[in-house]
Amino acid sequence: MKKSITCMCEHRFEADIPDKVDLEKSADSIASIIDGSFMTVSCPSCGKLLKPEFPFTLVHGGQGWEIRFVPELARQKTMRQPPIVKGKKTARVVIGYSELLEKVKIFEEQLDDRVIEYLKYFIMSKVMEKTEDEEKNVDVYYHERQGDVLEFHIQGLKSDEVGVFKLPMATYRKALADIDRHSSEEPFRDFLTPPYVSLNKFYSWDDG
Ligand SMILES: [Zn+2]
Repeated sequence: MKKSITCMCEHRFEADIPDKVDLEKSADSIASIIDGSFMTVSCPSCGKLLKPEFPFTLVHGGQGWEIRFVPELARQKTMRQPPIVKGKKTARVVIGYSELLEKVKIFEEQLDDRVIEYLKYFIMSKVMEKTEDEEKNVDVYYHERQGDVLEFHIQGLKSDEVGVFKLPMATYRKALADIDRHSSEEPFRDFLTPPYVSLNKFYSWDDG
């Protein structure tokens, strides 16, 4: 679909931005999401690479999931009222590119994202215990699986430094066995209820 984009050089142009991306038909999309080049366009006037945020749906029919991408600008509105996503598939909403990247990594590893967000809650609590400055904007996110270990990254504790938190897969499996029950309990229900499954909903920002 043609979208109008205005560059920082003030040049205005139209670019073809897809509304729907099927990962089974475009296999290189996963790689481009991970390296950050996904949905980038270059300005025909100054050549600058831009990453405009338009809503789109990412589908993986084979693995049975679907992700609805919402631009960062619509964060507050979406957290208050997530869009209704119908279907038999695992349907999720993500806000902004870092949430998209994290969700795609989780699904690619065929992990249950509710379990990941559930574990992130405890990692975050542990991290906050050790932090004296409660105003700090700390962010925990799933990074990757290394064999029998899940690696999480922690941002915002020290400037320009990413902390690493490792959890054994055994902890994941234990949480997985009880995730349906946990998902209906407070406080987990608040951020484990689809389609917006994200700890960011719990630590929601108040800058809008
Ligand atoms: Zn430009």
